[in-house]
Amino acid sequence: MKELNEVTFPRCLTPPEAMGLPKLCIFSDASEDAFGACAYLRWQKNDSDQYDVRFVAAKSRVAPLKKLTLPRLELQAAVMATRLDEAIREETTLEMQATVFMTDSMIVLGWIRSQARAFKPFVSSRVGEIQSKSNPQQWKHVNGKENPADDVSRGVPVSKLLERWRDGPKFLQLAEEEWMCREISSPNAEENKERRRAEQAMNAVVTSDCLDCERYSSWRKLIRVTAYVKRFLHNAKVQRCKAGSDATEDGRKGPLNPSELESAERFWIREVQKPLHAKMKRGEFKTLSPYVDDGIIYVGGRAGRIFESYDNRHPVLLPGQHRVSKLITRQIHEIGHDGVATTAAKVRRKYWITGVTKLAKSIKHSCVTCRKMECKLESQLMADLPELRTAPFTPPFHYTACDYFGPYNVKVGRKR
Ligand SMILES: [Zn+2]
Repeated sequence: MKELNEVTFPRCLTPPEAMGLPKLCIFSDASEDAFGACAYLRWQKNDSDQYDVRFVAAKSRVAPLKKLTLPRLELQAAVMATRLDEAIREETTLEMQATVFMTDSMIVLGWIRSQARAFKPFVSSRVGEIQSKSNPQQWKHVNGKENPADDVSRGVPVSKLLERWRDGPKFLQLAEEEWMCREISSPNAEENKERRRAEQAMNAVVTSDCLDCERYSSWRKLIRVTAYVKRFLHNAKVQRCKAGSDATEDGRKGPLNPSELESAERFWIREVQKPLHAKMKRGEFKTLSPYVDDGIIYVGGRAGRIFESYDNRHPVLLPGQHRVSKLITRQIHEIGHDGVATTAAKVRRKYWITGVTKLAKSIKHSCVTCRKMECKLESQLMADLPELRTAPFTPPFHYTACDYFGPYNVKVGRKR
């Protein structure tokens, strides 16, 4: 500590032979224990190629307890350098030609020359700060051995304070062309580690979305449109196969045939039943003893031996809340506009819709035709009774009459 008494720094930042405006040179460096920055003013001496260097200020911090990688610490040091530059410029009245920032980390230089937002938040925010306070062109590379900021990060004995620390590195006293600054190399692996991973967003197009059952008000129309779409796809495939080989299959034409309509219906049933498979596995429809055949869930039940068609014995299971169930029930109701129970029974001939009675009731209530048919008929207002029938003091059968109205034979022309 005694040696500290001998350490002196010239108080005046302007040397006696100085001329022109000085350049501020700020060095930054980091080690695993600390990071820091130091600033020097570089003056030209008497119009010669000689330069005088004055120590201005330095700042250091111990490395945070949370372990950071060395490049990140170097970046912290670089941030400190820009803040030091800002502080010096604010505090001094001295006019300066420019500021040169120097670091021995190629990785940090690479980051500073890149777009800040390309990196992970830690690097991105700090590079952003550096770029807002300095121009990336101001940043230069310095050999690690010649970096005086190395003394800040690693510490230095008092006896050495009067050498590089006070007078700056030797190369500062030379002309700028003679500085041994390395060109900034292309990004290396370490630098790329901090880059944000580009997330690729893809729009998954679900084929069933082109046919939205919510947009149809009739089951028949939905089936027919689906069948036409399926036919179009089939024909497109046939065309492509034809182009590649000499296949002779022709595309489908003309009116839709029953197998196409059935295939469209099965498509929709599979779509509607998609969420039911998971529920079935959880045992939600246990009482219906459902089973899957060709991807479609049928209701098992005890009617397997009844002499009826397969559809009647094993209806297709459908959820009552789905649009398709509503369309099916409505279509069945509109054939004859039956009551709630009849509609539900007719639906169950082919489909086992959960809560079908409730569904049939809501359809019956919203059916315009049914409303029209159910309206009350107007009754005729009868005329007053004739005088004969209301005559007082007359015995029964006093007045008799014959209701003379019956089939007449009318003579038309000469025939009859
Ligand atoms: Zn109706």
